Amino acid sequence: MDVVFERKLELALGIWQYWFRSQRAVDFVPGQYVDLFLSDVAGDPRGSSRTFTLASLPSEPSITFITKHFELQTPYKYALQTLTADASARIGEAMGDLVLPKSPNVPLVFVAGGIGMASYASMLRDLIARKEERPIFLFYVLRTRREQLFRELTDVYPLQLKQIILAPNELTAQEIKATTPPDSLVYLSGSQTFVEDLRGSLEALGTPRSRIVFDYYDGYAEL
Ligand SMILES: Cc1cc2nc3c(=O)[nH]c(=O)nc-3n(C[C@H](O)[C@H](O)[C@H](O)COP(=O)(O)OP(=O)(O)OC[C@H]3O[C@@H](n4cnc5c(N)ncnc54)[C@H](O)[C@@H]3O)c2cc1C
Repeated sequence: MDVVFERKLELALGIWQYWFRSQRAVDFVPGQYVDLFLSDVAGDPRGSSRTFTLASLPSEPSITFITKHFELQTPYKYALQTLTADASARIGEAMGDLVLPKSPNVPLVFVAGGIGMASYASMLRDLIARKEERPIFLFYVLRTRREQLFRELTDVYPLQLKQIILAPNELTAQEIKATTPPDSLVYLSGSQTFVEDLRGSLEALGTPRSRIVFDYYDGYAEL
């Protein structure tokens, strides 16, 4: 589907939010992601697209996502950063199973590493919009408080637990297990290392593979 770049905003040092609008509503379930294809990407070994998790609601006229820019960046990220208003781009079909379960009673554990928090934004927005309260336990690992995203959602939604873990402290699978119900569905989102480490430790502590849902944002050493 064709989309048009609208605007971007720096939320914290190097962390940017982007907005694109489309002719018709983008069909997705909160928590899903799309591939964003740009036309002016020269010489990028990974090509002209990257995957981004949609942080907006399906009913909103624009889609939005969060990403990170570093001083030394790929040709793709450079092309993204230098888009001018009304530049055209393209998105693929929405995909992904990091979405809310049908039953509203399942306890949900949302674990975010850095901008991995973006994976939960659309789900929280959706629940707030529908005034639906689910038992949600949030663990949010950050390098600094300044990088805390989506406070407008986490301050409003009645979370059962909101645990912010600031570096150099680390979140352990033991802590998650000790503070959440045993039948929880555990969501993991962040860098590959963050997600794989926690997933392995949770499984080692007895969390069945089927109770862990995850997305990792590849290409980042840390988030
Ligand atoms: C399910 C899923 C959801 C995702 N959601 C998001 C999201 O919401 N937000 C998000 O930001 N990302 C998301 N990602 C990851 C995203 O698709 C990109 O892989 C990520 O943004 C890194 O892209 P990049 O172009 O910066 O680095 P990559 O192309 O992955 O390059 C790897 C690294 O190479 C180094 N590098 C620096 N300069 C260059 C250069 N000139 N040429 C080559 N390499 C260089 C950098 O350290 C860079 O990080 C998601 C991925 C998946 C699979």
